[in-house]
Amino acid sequence: METETKDLNDWQALRATLAIEGRAFIDGRYRHARSDETFDCASPIDGAWLAHIASCGLADADDAVAAARRAFDANIWAGLNPRARKAILLRWAALIREHGDELALLETLDAGKPIADTTSVDVPGVAYCIEWFAEAIDKFGGDIAPADHHLVGLVTREPIGVVAAVVPWNFPLLMAAWKFAPALAAGNSVVLKPSEKSPLTAIRVAQLALEAGIPPGVFNVLPGNGDAGRALALHRGVDCIAFTGSTPVGKRIMQYAAESNLKRVWLELGGKSPNIVLPDCPDMDRAVKTAASAIFYNMGEMCTAGSRLLVHRDIKEAFLDRLVNAARRYAPANPLDPATAMGAIIDQSQLDRVLGFIEAGRQEANLVLGGSRAQVIDGGFYIEPTIFDTTDGNALIAREEIFGPVLSVITFDTIDEAVRLANASDYGLAAAVWTADLNTAHDVSRRLRAGTVWVNCYDEGGDMNFPFGGYRQSGNGRDKSLHALDKYTELKSTLIRLA
Ligand code: NAP
Ligand code: MG
Repeated sequence: METETKDLNDWQALRATLAIEGRAFIDGRYRHARSDETFDCASPIDGAWLAHIASCGLADADDAVAAARRAFDANIWAGLNPRARKAILLRWAALIREHGDELALLETLDAGKPIADTTSVDVPGVAYCIEWFAEAIDKFGGDIAPADHHLVGLVTREPIGVVAAVVPWNFPLLMAAWKFAPALAAGNSVVLKPSEKSPLTAIRVAQLALEAGIPPGVFNVLPGNGDAGRALALHRGVDCIAFTGSTPVGKRIMQYAAESNLKRVWLELGGKSPNIVLPDCPDMDRAVKTAASAIFYNMGEMCTAGSRLLVHRDIKEAFLDRLVNAARRYAPANPLDPATAMGAIIDQSQLDRVLGFIEAGRQEANLVLGGSRAQVIDGGFYIEPTIFDTTDGNALIAREEIFGPVLSVITFDTIDEAVRLANASDYGLAAAVWTADLNTAHDVSRRLRAGTVWVNCYDEGGDMNFPFGGYRQSGNGRDKSLHALDKYTELKSTLIRLA
């Protein structure tokens, strides 16, 4: 049956047939943790138990890194003609598309994301990312540098070796693909550590990688909690660690690298992104709908969430009225229903954290919409779309990354004030400005300190062509685009003296 025609009953029926794998994938096969320990994976949709997951620790990290190292040293992957790696990666992407319904369902059950999103964004996005880097890698050469006449100077790129990828739970497989696709395309071996809150799809696609022809040891999946991530970040056999997650853990990853082998560290961290609406906004209707999706899409569990809406005083009242209306589309509902736009919060601890911020917000700002836990399905974790109105850009809810469906609306009077407020953050992941004036658009976007700036839109750019990452404490390095290959390759100068 086609994805587009599936309804709630179809997804529930498919759920009943799922056989969920929870073991680690190391050196081309599924296996238990050495300790035999497991943890329970439950669905945030309804609290139902899904699987026992291998709780990997130090010994398993050693095994995975050793397998990755053996594969790399044997040159069975890096040594292939890039066209051959491309063909295998394309087969993997095709298998992921073929198993799209199963993977989307796993992602929805595991992370609470609406099935409409996992079928249309997450799973096709993963396949596309793998395809994009597969297609790029056999067109990506080095340089011959200018040099003395008696020299030939080659500048080439080589894979780094063993890449560890440690990723979060908000786009479990997509954030992983942004790392493993360029890393594998470039010829590295990879050890992927998914979040303990959302390990299922990573574990599943490992089998598909093997089926596609990725040799044993080249792609390994190490489920576990933060300790497994820490073991990789401290491991002397890991040459590079690519991390997406919170800023505090990112800081630790840098420390671990410094304490061990100075492995390359690439960090994609948090954000508190400003969305600025000027009075000459060319399309208020679109700006209102986009402001709502910027914060409520994916339950606000978005590193780029437009969590600070900066609106000019002249249009504030009218804009806010319309925004409250637009937010109604995001009333939480059963994530397995294809009509649902807002699903479940990832787990109890994140639910409590978000509700804690909402309590703090009630003390320091005006609650305009929502503010409570929603009862959708017994045992599940749901929060109403929540909007606060404040004049204090320094309020806790306007400063801290909440990672939930909570918006702070902040009023300003001048463009300079808007830019100052926008940049008054430790983060610098993304920003947006709405204006009809070309000069203002360029001027403001130049002054915004962020890795991505949207003008008269938000969250556009699903293409892999745009580098993605942060300024300041939102991280370093870039995912997506050819720039991502910088993270997973070393540059080598080879100087040949001619006789
Ligand atoms: P997190 O707590 O930092 O966890 C991220 C990953 O690190 C998880 O796999 C986690 O494992 C692991 N980890 C935890 N402690 C560790 C340690 N001491 N050493 C090594 N690894 C460790 O972040 P999260 O709560 O999963 O995700 C939310 C954060 O990710 C937000 O701040 C969000 O902004 C950020 N994010 C950023 C981007 C971006 O591209 N910039 C994209 C998505 C999300 P366990 O989960 O198993 O504990
Ligand atoms: Mg889960």
